[in-house]
Amino acid sequence: MLGLMQSHKLMLSSVIRHAARQHGHSEVVSFMSDGSVHRATYVELERRCRRLARVMQTLKVGFGDRVGTLAWNDYRHFELYYGVSGTGAILNTVNVRLAPEDVAYIINHAQSKVLFVDPSLVPLLRGIANEVAATVRDVVVMSDKPVELGLPAGMRVHCYEDLIAAADESYVWPEFDEESGSVLTYTSGTTGRPKGVLYSHRASLLQSYAVNSADVFGLRAVDRILPCASMYHATAWTLPYSVPMVGASLILPGRFLDGPSLYRMIESERVTFAFGVPTIWTGFLDHLKSAGGKLSTLKRVLSGGSAITRQLVETFREYGVRVEHAWGMTECGPVTAYNAPVAATKDLQGDALLEVMLRQGRPFFGSDIKIVDENGVELPRDGKAFGALLARGAYMTRQYYRQGEEGAADPDNWFATGDVATIDENGFVQLVDRTKDLIKSGGEWISSIALEDIASSHPAVAEAAVIAAAHSKWVERPLLLVVLRDQADADSAALLEHFKGKVANWWIPDQVVFVPQLPHTAVGKLNKRELRTQYGEHYNAGTE
Ligand code: AMP
Repeated sequence: MLGLMQSHKLMLSSVIRHAARQHGHSEVVSFMSDGSVHRATYVELERRCRRLARVMQTLKVGFGDRVGTLAWNDYRHFELYYGVSGTGAILNTVNVRLAPEDVAYIINHAQSKVLFVDPSLVPLLRGIANEVAATVRDVVVMSDKPVELGLPAGMRVHCYEDLIAAADESYVWPEFDEESGSVLTYTSGTTGRPKGVLYSHRASLLQSYAVNSADVFGLRAVDRILPCASMYHATAWTLPYSVPMVGASLILPGRFLDGPSLYRMIESERVTFAFGVPTIWTGFLDHLKSAGGKLSTLKRVLSGGSAITRQLVETFREYGVRVEHAWGMTECGPVTAYNAPVAATKDLQGDALLEVMLRQGRPFFGSDIKIVDENGVELPRDGKAFGALLARGAYMTRQYYRQGEEGAADPDNWFATGDVATIDENGFVQLVDRTKDLIKSGGEWISSIALEDIASSHPAVAEAAVIAAAHSKWVERPLLLVVLRDQADADSAALLEHFKGKVANWWIPDQVVFVPQLPHTAVGKLNKRELRTQYGEHYNAGTE
């Protein structure tokens, strides 16, 4: 017998409708790529989203068609999240920091016939125009005045605000199968070509509910949220949905993620909670320390995407800000685990507390994880055994977009994350490494993440990376690459001494290479593939 409750499909459009009806005065503030600041309420934006839905009809975008974006975090990109997905079309957000050939690959692979582009990214589009000419038929420049693009004949060019102005508001958000695709986002391609992950309305809506629980983001209507995670990658960790869902205000930083800009925004817009990868926070704190200043409203910072360091937690604490740690990946919706205390950890202090905070967190409702050995047998949750981390649940990828069975979840829906981890008795996962970044020395595993955390706690170190370098005797040995802080002075011996007593002696890197900077991927993580190419033979080459 069916229940007698109303049946409503889980549609993402219901989020913006709710925000407009219930939290109409909350605002979305955008730092636009031309340097201007734009302010709008959810009421105004929902109306524009309906016009945009009409624009989809004008541009002949049908149900399930893909619409690409080359855009930053601002209100027009936000409108596209609803104005495209809300009609049943699929928004393909393209990571504009990828190499141009990957950007072209994604647009072609997604088969996006319509492409929305920020004026500041027109040069990127121009550079790949010939490669995508057979796919893209309409280009919409996200500006209020028409721009001459010089694109190949055959690509029609439109101006965003002209299209919006010509559209009417009478659109009624439709209901359709909640499992329909909503956003197509690609992995950042550190191993081979980027792969497409196709979110559904149901998965993103359920995950947005879940992250709004108290032990995850726990957002509130009075919050002012700054997503430094990009809307062009993995839906900026659900924030374009989870923030309006509770009626909090959204501060969209555009392309300005440098320390001074972020500081100005956080103070002038009274940001209470900001989200980003550790690289962003390191740059932000460096600025704060050198320029001086206080944080008047910021209380929480979420750091995800790469491991956090003690340094980060402790420095933010000096400013009265709590660092929260999350783990996820594009394929997982993307948020899976969150580091909130349980009864057994809530009273910890000092180092014991720090140890727990450095763990990546525990899965919240809707996701399940396990670690397995090389035969697929589940390993104990004792905080010591480590193995391949698998995940499954309502927000997880079943298979990649147009990739056949390559990388698909197993028949029981367990998806191999490519991470190696431990899980402790309280369910907290701790990443040991990406599978490919682990160092195998004399048959024993060494965690590069653990070594990087220790190295970066040395006061002279601005950033550290540890990679596996080939070794004639031990097969692989850890090699430490270090960027020193300005004016800091430390030699190899001092840095290696710093590891003593913190890890087993045989874990300590054999050598240190000082570099002016370290390479990062398009989402701000250390690019270890590039480092391995450059330094992988360091020990064999006998260089010091
Ligand atoms: P992406 O798909 O770009 O979001 O990258 C996902 C990968 O980033 C994961 O599989 C992890 O290897 C890494 N990652 C995400 N969050 C963390 C974290 N808190 N600590 C360490 N690594 C992380």
